[in-house]
Amino acid sequence: MSKRSSRDRRLHAETRLVHEGTLRSEFGETSEALFLTQGHVYASAEECEARFKGESPGFLYARFSNPTVSMFEQRIASFEGAEAARATATGMAAVTAALMGLLQAGDHIVAARALFGSCRYVVAELLPRFGVASTLVDGTNLNAWRGAVRPETKVFFLESPANPTLEVIDIAAVAQIAREVGAKLVVDNVFSSPLWQKPLELGADCVVYSATKHIDGQGRCLGGVILGSEDFIQTHIHTLLRQTGPSMSPFNAWVLLKSLETLPLRVERQTRTAAIVADALAGHSKIRRLIYPGRADHPQAAVIARQMKGGSTLIALEIEGGKAGAFRFLNALELIRISNNLGDAKSLITHPATTTHQRFTPEERAEMGVSEGLVRLSIGLEHTDDLINDLLRALKRV
Ligand SMILES: *Cc1c(COP(=O)(O)O)cnc(C)c1O
Repeated sequence: MSKRSSRDRRLHAETRLVHEGTLRSEFGETSEALFLTQGHVYASAEECEARFKGESPGFLYARFSNPTVSMFEQRIASFEGAEAARATATGMAAVTAALMGLLQAGDHIVAARALFGSCRYVVAELLPRFGVASTLVDGTNLNAWRGAVRPETKVFFLESPANPTLEVIDIAAVAQIAREVGAKLVVDNVFSSPLWQKPLELGADCVVYSATKHIDGQGRCLGGVILGSEDFIQTHIHTLLRQTGPSMSPFNAWVLLKSLETLPLRVERQTRTAAIVADALAGHSKIRRLIYPGRADHPQAAVIARQMKGGSTLIALEIEGGKAGAFRFLNALELIRISNNLGDAKSLITHPATTTHQRFTPEERAEMGVSEGLVRLSIGLEHTDDLINDLLRALKRV
């Protein structure tokens, strides 16, 4: 296998997304190879011993590393501006491993309360079962982060923009508080995508993604990734992943690796369309509230201008008439499909209160901002006019 293409920081991000991390085999293939193999053979028992001891470079077993998975990790790390990345089977495996890798019994975690349902389960229900106390705060209130800190606080965790409310948190300010109290900040950056926001530059210690979303972008594979400094990954993440095995399949890594090449094209277009759609719907009589990061009426517009290079491919809409109104709207759509994925080439819409957030009590949902009329719209690659026509037609039926 030939050497990796050089990690030349003078190349632009789009260029690195096409070339970074490529490992060419002896055949000189143009498109990166899919190494669908569990393991590797060794020239000698001595070579095998040296690999296991880490004294000789090379691959061992796909639970720890695989050439195709490694190409994906190198490429996303380069784009994120991270020293190291580790791929996982799903986004939730990345979130769980990042938090488990940092915490042990007796520790405490503070998290923003506006979270994706599964993230909230891990923080508020799973970690406490292992002796890790958790406190959920209003992430937009910096005094709430400070006030929740205890001597044993080791981790801060947040999503920004949050799923599904698109609430935005001042990452640099929260990172500053984390540093002051000696906690590590983990940011779930799914909703901004790797294109629009760089939490590590804003002071976070670790970024996690569900690669299932914009990174795949075409609704095919599950995947996740954990990014941070080499030291962070080695100290907190490497051994946990290696020994517990929430590994990304080489096949999924190959799909996701090739998808990275088109990520900026897709996310730029989807964001541009989402901004036009948001403007077209704002003020509509059947919409009680529209939240779009990128519009001046977003509650955290000033923070967005500071920390995000672009808006979002997602729009949150509160439809008149609660659940009944939202369901009439969803059922009247003809082009936009009802589905719980996001970041897809196909525009998708979901009703969080009865899907991603259905397992919570009405009080918990209210605290997270998930009302009965809230719908989350993920804008795809269709023509803007077709989407707006579909949405306006469906709103008439509410
Ligand atoms: C989807 C999602 C996840 C989980 O990702 P999976 O790949 O489905 O496991 C985590 N966080 C956020 C914000 C998400 O939207």
